[in-house]
Amino acid sequence: MTTPSPETESKSEDELDSALVTARRQLERAATHVDVDPGVVERLKHPTRVQQVSVPLEREDGSVEVFTGYRAQHDDVRGPYKGGLRYHPEVSAEECTGLSMWMTWKCAVMDLPFGGGKGGIAVDPKSLSEDETERLTRRFAEELRDAVGPTKDVPAPDMGTDAQTMAWFMDAYSMQQGETIPGVVTGKPPVIGGSYGREEAPGRSTAIAAREAIQYYDREVSATTVAVQGFGSVGANAARLLEDWGATVVAVSDVNGAIYDPDGLDTHAIPTHEEEPEAVLEQDAPETLGNEDILELDVDVLIPAAVGNVITAENADAIEADIVVEGANGPTTFAADTILEERGVPVIPDILANAGGVTVSYFEWLQDINRRQWSLERVNEELEEHMLDAWDDVREEVDAAGLTWRDAAYVVALSRIAEAKETRGLWP
Ligand code: NAD
Repeated sequence: MTTPSPETESKSEDELDSALVTARRQLERAATHVDVDPGVVERLKHPTRVQQVSVPLEREDGSVEVFTGYRAQHDDVRGPYKGGLRYHPEVSAEECTGLSMWMTWKCAVMDLPFGGGKGGIAVDPKSLSEDETERLTRRFAEELRDAVGPTKDVPAPDMGTDAQTMAWFMDAYSMQQGETIPGVVTGKPPVIGGSYGREEAPGRSTAIAAREAIQYYDREVSATTVAVQGFGSVGANAARLLEDWGATVVAVSDVNGAIYDPDGLDTHAIPTHEEEPEAVLEQDAPETLGNEDILELDVDVLIPAAVGNVITAENADAIEADIVVEGANGPTTFAADTILEERGVPVIPDILANAGGVTVSYFEWLQDINRRQWSLERVNEELEEHMLDAWDDVREEVDAAGLTWRDAAYVVALSRIAEAKETRGLWP
C-alpha cells in the first residue's frame, strides 16, 4: 500500500531552507520584478488560515494514540485551495504553510483556477498497518470536513499517501455528506473518478520542460545526455519519456546510489521505486556512483527528482550540467540558485517543471464535476498543451526581461494573482 516516502537528506539545519522561508524569499524577489501593490505582496506572505486538528486512532493492540493533522490554506483568490496531504513525521504547520504558498504559485503559473493548500499528519506511515492507515485517514477526513470540498479545498496525494488514501478520504467525506462527491480530492484510482495519466503526469511535465529547454538552448534531444537523481514516480517517468524521445539517459539513482553508462541506460528495464523499491544498484551497468556524485556528472541535462535541498552552496560550483530541470520540489537552495545564476546555468523551476501533477489533478476535478472520464490520449494531449502555454508565458518573461527561469515563473504567477486580487478588491 502506501509507498515509502522520499526522506529529507540529513544536512545541517543552516543548510536546509524551510519551505516557508524559501517561499517568502521567492515572493519578495519576484515582487521586485513586477509592478504590484505592496499590500497584495503583504497579503500573500500570510496564509488565509492554517487548521490544526487532533486525529485519534485506535491501534491494533487496542490502545489509543492521538496524532496532529494540519491543513494550510494559503490563497484562494483564483479558485479553491489545491494541494497534497502528506503523512510524514516532520509534518508541521510551518512546513504546510510554506508548501501551500508554493502551490499557489504553481497553480497560477499553469493558469489553473485554483489557489494553494497543503496539509498532512505528523506520523510515520511505515509504522501503521493498512487498517490503521485507513482509520486514521477516515478520521482525518471527518476532522477536515468543514474545510474541504470541491469548491473550497481539494486535497491530493503527497509524500506517504497515495491513490488508496484518497479513495478512503473521498469515501469518508461522501458518507458524511450523504452523496458521492468524487471532486473533493484528486489522485484517486480511475474506477472512482480518478484520471488516467495522473500518476505519470509530474514526470511527463518534467520531461516536456526538459525537452523545451533543450530546444530553447539550440540543442537536439537526440544529442542530449541526461542524469536523473531519484528513480521514483517523477524521475522514472521523466527519464523513460526522454529516452523515448531520443535522449541518452546516462545515469539514474535512488537513495542508495547511482548507476552510470556513458552509452545510455535502458530506463524501461530499471524498476521504479514503486515497482521494486531501491533496485537501481542491482541493475547491470559499467559503473556505480555515490548518490551525490550523480549531481556533478558532466551531462547536458540534470534532473534532481528525489528530495529537496540537494543542490546547495556546498556543491553548486561542482554542478557540470548545462541545464538543471527541477523534478523534485525545492531541490535547489536559495544560495545555490544564486551561484548557478552567476555561473550561467539555467534552472527550470519546480513550479513549472513538475506542475503536470496538479494540472492533471485539475483535469480530474473537471471530469468529476462533469461526471465524465477522459481517455489517456486526451489527458496527455491537454497536458502537453497546458505545459507549452505555461512554457511560452515564462519564456516571454525570460526573453523580455532577462530574468532567470525561476524569477520569470514567479513573475507570471504573481502577476496573475495580483491582478485577481486587485480586481476583486479587499473586503470589507
Ligand atoms: P518516490 O517516492 O516515487 O521516489 C523517490 C525516489 O527518490 C526513490 O527512487 C528514492 O529511492 C529516491 N530517494 C529518496 N531519498 C533520496 C536521496 N536522499 N537521494 C537520492 N535519491 C533519493 O517520490 P516521487 O513521487 O517521485 O517524488 C519525488 C519528488 O518529486 C519529491 O520532491 C516530490 O515532492 C516531488 N513531486 C512529486 C509529485 C508526485 O505527484 N509524485 C508531484 C510533484 C512533485
